[in-house]
Amino acid sequence: MMQRTVSTDDWRVLRGVLPGSAVVSDPVELIAYEMDGSLGLGQPQGVILPRSTQEVAEVVRWAAARGLPVVARGAGTGLSGGAIASEGGVILSLARMKRITELDEVGRSVVVQPGVIHLTLDEFVRTRGLYYPPDPASGRACTIGGNLAENAGGPHCFKYGVTTNYITGLEVVLADGRVIRTGGRAFDYPELDLTGLLVGSEGTLGVITEAECRLMRNIPGIKTMMAIFNSVEEAGAAVSAVIARGLIPATLEMMDRGMIGIVENYAHAGLPTDAEALLIIEADGYAESLESQMTEIAQVLRQQNARELRTAQTAAERDRIWYARKSAFGAIAQISPAYLIVDGTVPRSKLAPVLAEINRICDRHRLRVGYVFHAGDGNLHPLILFDPSDAEMVHRVHEAGREVLELCVRIGGTITGEHGVGTEKRAYMPMMFNPGELRAMQEIKEVFDPQGIMNPGKILPEAEVKGQDAGVGGQDAGVRGQGSGGRSQGAANSPRSVEEAAEALRDLAAAGRPYRIRGGGTKSGLLPAPVLAKPGMATTLSTAALTGITAYAVDDLYVTARAGTTLAELQAELARDRMWTPLVSPWSAATIGGIVATNFNAPLRMRYGAIRDLVLALTAVLPDGRIIRAGRAVVKNVAGYDLAKLFIGSHAALGLITDVTFKLWPAPRARASLIAGVDTLAHGLEVGGRLLRVCLTASALLLCHGCELPGVSAPYALVYTAEGVPEDVQVELAQAQAVLEAGGLTAARRVDALAGSQVWAEWLRTALAAGMTLRVAAPPKDLARVGLPTFRRLATLPASSAPFIADLASGLVYLQSAEIAAARQAAQRLGGYAIVLSGEQATPVAAGFDPWGYAPEGLDLMAALKARWDPQALCNPNAFIV
Ligand SMILES: Cc1cc2nc3c(=O)[nH]c(=O)nc-3n(C[C@H](O)[C@H](O)[C@H](O)COP(=O)(O)OP(=O)(O)OC[C@H]3O[C@@H](n4cnc5c(N)ncnc54)[C@H](O)[C@@H]3O)c2cc1C
Repeated sequence: MMQRTVSTDDWRVLRGVLPGSAVVSDPVELIAYEMDGSLGLGQPQGVILPRSTQEVAEVVRWAAARGLPVVARGAGTGLSGGAIASEGGVILSLARMKRITELDEVGRSVVVQPGVIHLTLDEFVRTRGLYYPPDPASGRACTIGGNLAENAGGPHCFKYGVTTNYITGLEVVLADGRVIRTGGRAFDYPELDLTGLLVGSEGTLGVITEAECRLMRNIPGIKTMMAIFNSVEEAGAAVSAVIARGLIPATLEMMDRGMIGIVENYAHAGLPTDAEALLIIEADGYAESLESQMTEIAQVLRQQNARELRTAQTAAERDRIWYARKSAFGAIAQISPAYLIVDGTVPRSKLAPVLAEINRICDRHRLRVGYVFHAGDGNLHPLILFDPSDAEMVHRVHEAGREVLELCVRIGGTITGEHGVGTEKRAYMPMMFNPGELRAMQEIKEVFDPQGIMNPGKILPEAEVKGQDAGVGGQDAGVRGQGSGGRSQGAANSPRSVEEAAEALRDLAAAGRPYRIRGGGTKSGLLPAPVLAKPGMATTLSTAALTGITAYAVDDLYVTARAGTTLAELQAELARDRMWTPLVSPWSAATIGGIVATNFNAPLRMRYGAIRDLVLALTAVLPDGRIIRAGRAVVKNVAGYDLAKLFIGSHAALGLITDVTFKLWPAPRARASLIAGVDTLAHGLEVGGRLLRVCLTASALLLCHGCELPGVSAPYALVYTAEGVPEDVQVELAQAQAVLEAGGLTAARRVDALAGSQVWAEWLRTALAAGMTLRVAAPPKDLARVGLPTFRRLATLPASSAPFIADLASGLVYLQSAEIAAARQAAQRLGGYAIVLSGEQATPVAAGFDPWGYAPEGLDLMAALKARWDPQALCNPNAFIV
């Protein structure tokens, strides 16, 4: 981008619209903003520190009118050059927008401005008994805005996931100064997941001015252990062994001998300086389960030749271990003027050979390297030490860094697990993505930012931005094959491979023929019937021949299945190893492609997250035949835009999903439910609200009406399911029982064989067969706290008549009712929505009826992306909001 100078007049105009806000244009003061935590440099022409969303919008409008780059900045701790003005323009510092604006203790969410320091949020929610799991090691300094833009991770992300898994909605200032909200505080909005796309987009699609974050209950107990090894290989193998045993510790961090020495010298934490490697392992849960969890982990570690195990006996001892871990980067400053952190991620079972290979690479380049990293995630952080005044050495450092990342990609990993692409790794993006995939990212960028002013020079490689790729249509663009040739029509309509699917879509595009994508066929009865201008004119493209598991790694906790595989087949295969992926469908014929495309899962979110949190990667074919591989089979990956999120819940509006890679969980060792009959809806909601506060290992908290439940004759029932290690389940159900008794529900029964997800699946199957069923969504707080009046409004019917299941933790009510207009009005007033779930078997709806009834603020962006990828509107026309 050509640098444009900001004139005195331009500054005057800006100061006019931002009275009292800091606008820095003094070249001396600007020096402080030339760097971030990376090795890059950039000179901004000014720095602006707005105090409100409106002011951010003013600044962006002002910059857009002048074609000036806008670089959002949090604390500048980023390690990939994302916050530097590499192409000039202005830095928009969010440092003054640092309010926590709302906390909902019952629904467990918090609304924050981007300038809030991570640690401030962490400490604040903990005082209220809540927990925000993403925990970057830079938490003392970095901002939530920076965390969102980079999709930050941290030590506890192994068990609890990364930033994107906790963000339900955003407020964003777009490149033209317009302010929109994406998502919200309800769940599973019927829209393209722009929230998921914006998280990790490094400020290149818009400026985030507010975020709605999901929280967990604070975890009551933690035990921390240090395991000491005589070799890095043994430590790496121990990580895999712990996971293969079906144990999910809260953290699994590793340090090698070089780093142990450096850190000990700085932190004096009593680290074993003669060890070759150490692991920091934490188990969490109720105090009652910690001993047995740790005993089992210790047993595995000993079998893997751990030389010594040291368990922290006090909070002070634990703090000392973490202080050492978190001081690692700072400690290096004592021995080296600079270092490069290489942030690749690999499947964790490959840790030991990869570390050995990285050592060889660094030896060959005559460089010193140390390791301190998130071993449980396979997120390596080789720290390569160097002297920045030695240009030849700097060159060697970059060469070694590139080779390490090539290695990571070669074995199925990624070029960045948590630090982002920024300026530093944009040239490496083609290592991971073919030109067709890069082009897809560039097209997203153009939809959001046609002028290219939002943080230019980041993420996308230069050639891509200039449109120098092969474009669509060549082998390199990800479009494989040469047309249908001699294929039978049957194969075209029921492709057997991703290549055949790509050819089929290309042929349909060439013929201008619309098509419906069909999985197991269960959703055609589940979701609103799509409307065609001329019924019967569409081809049906079935995933029925795309079946089978194509990759399965128990010690790396992932499985890849083709789209037409039924969930039942997948779970049966996983069950052999006592694994599962937390998905439940009412129909045995439901395919994984259909489940992901419709984003439809049982009430399991509290324990495992939603579908968007379980999908690590997927392959999709765009309507022009481009094959897109989105994500990788690793739990941390922030390379480029998160394309997978766009396909989850897209109802195939953007293309055909051909396979999905899911995160695996060990099958819970224990699972049990409490069932309590309740006489009135008001009472059920009141006690349900109190039960929400208990949920830690709970997988479901349901309030049911009209369900057949064992031993329940009351009109309503509460179902509380807990799962996990037996001691945790025991303690949690005892707590839930106490809440029920305090609420006067003394006759609660414990049923070991039953799970809330099963109750939901059976009820839904019956309800959908019987008539129109709605899914009504509201922020969980409004179901639980506002209680009866809200629920009545949502239900729209006298409390006694309409059968329903309310997933209290998610704010989702499944309701057998045809009163969609009233339900919709009530839900939308609360920031939610109401959609029709049944189509074919249900009460027929009037022609022109809108089953979604929802128009998100970013609808124009969604439609523009659809138009870009499917210009003839052939793919599943009128089956979704775009
Ligand atoms: C010692 C140290 C340890 C670290 N440990 C970790 C770790 O464990 N895990 C981890 O993930 N990272 C880690 N990091 C990297 C860094 O701290 C994170 O990337 C962090 O999220 C950046 O936050 P920040 O506020 O400093 O953002 P900045 O560096 O200011 O900006 C980072 C990116 O976010 C964009 N951005 C900032 N605010 C907004 C906004 N409101 N809207 C849109 N875009 C915005 C910027 O344009 C830039 O692209 C570490 C860094 C250091 C120095």
